[in-house]
Amino acid sequence: MTILVINAGSSSHKAALFSPDWGSRPQWRSHLDWSREPGWVHLAAQTADGRSHRDRLQTQDPTLALRALIETLWQGPAAVVEGPTAIAAVGHRVVHGGTAYQHSVVITPDVKATIRDLCPLAPAHNPANLHGIEVLETLLSGIPQVAVFDTAFHSHLPRAAATYAGPYDWLLQGIRRYGFHGISHQYVAQRAADLLQKPLSTLNLVTCHLGNGCSLAAIRGGVSVDTTMGFTPLEGLMMGSRSGSVDPGIVLHLLRQGNLTATDLDRVLNQGSGLRGISGLSNDLRTIIDQAEAGHDRAQLALEMFIHSLRRHLGAMLASLDGLDAVVFTAGIGENSPLIWQAACEPWQWLGLRLDPTQLERCDRDRDIAAPDSAVRVFVIHTQEEWAIAQACQTALANRPAVPAPAAEP
Ligand code: ADP
Repeated sequence: MTILVINAGSSSHKAALFSPDWGSRPQWRSHLDWSREPGWVHLAAQTADGRSHRDRLQTQDPTLALRALIETLWQGPAAVVEGPTAIAAVGHRVVHGGTAYQHSVVITPDVKATIRDLCPLAPAHNPANLHGIEVLETLLSGIPQVAVFDTAFHSHLPRAAATYAGPYDWLLQGIRRYGFHGISHQYVAQRAADLLQKPLSTLNLVTCHLGNGCSLAAIRGGVSVDTTMGFTPLEGLMMGSRSGSVDPGIVLHLLRQGNLTATDLDRVLNQGSGLRGISGLSNDLRTIIDQAEAGHDRAQLALEMFIHSLRRHLGAMLASLDGLDAVVFTAGIGENSPLIWQAACEPWQWLGLRLDPTQLERCDRDRDIAAPDSAVRVFVIHTQEEWAIAQACQTALANRPAVPAPAAEP
């Protein structure tokens, strides 16, 4: 089945096409980026057989830009299909599914209404996701579309882990821990089980998704039983430009001082904090590491804080497990930073966790970097969220209730 996957974000969109001939490798992948140049959108598409298409569009209209991106599938140097009818289904990453969705679903008007209702809980993501769905509905009319939710994997959190200790009424209002990056945590957990050649249902894992956004999950028997992100993707670990958990009293203090509005605070906590806020340099860990090594004091502090935050949340995840079979590192930082693997694992030597010094180099292969005699395995796994979405899309379509045949005319 040829499946188009759309990951629509607030400042960039990614898309990938999976076809039976190419397996888990996208036959075509593309990227739209609004963040590089004011007033312009940058478009890039590449095919698995080495062709590419680049363009620069002078528009602020996201509908036009997304249409141009999708049309590169059948027009221009990166075309891979003859036309829209070659596509059997579209899978959309949707960040927030609230409590409504524990699995991927075929999109109907009711599903869209729920995604719209959840926009206040994910204002940077759900509106963009919904826009992607609506554009694709017009462009690929009649082709089934599936929503794959980033929250769904965490929908079985035990209630003690999911509930905030505010008034009980919060829970009734939907203020609870939802958790995010679920598509990635679920994919790498299954991949770790495959590498271990053991059923996921028998394993205790901590998965570490460390990219611009960072979150951990405690996975027991294939079920997410705790995770560091919460009601929004702001909670938990220190991140590239997000603060992670801070004392809510700080927010009250700043509001009481009266110099900041809720919008200012949103900007500070989401864009002006974390590695960028502390270092004053960048949200990119590579820059922070380079500058820390060069003696930049605030970069050193940012790096020490990032490591401290990672260790303390990793410890918190252990408390929800019955043991620990493996730690998994994934996403930009998790897949590429030997310094972070070592720093994150160092405190757990008393658990018998030891890394293999010969494996601590970047490499494109999913692999175990623990020492042969380590009591806990440590995997570096390349997350494949788009492939996971394509698979979830196929499952949702296979499980779709059959449409009853129309009654025969009397
Ligand atoms: P996103 O969350 O936006 O999808 P990614 O998963 O692509 O982000 O991660 C991006 C981050 O990965 C970059 O900001 C950078 O900090 C980090 N990163 C990438 N390569 C390395 C590396 N070799 N060493 C340390 N950090 C890296």
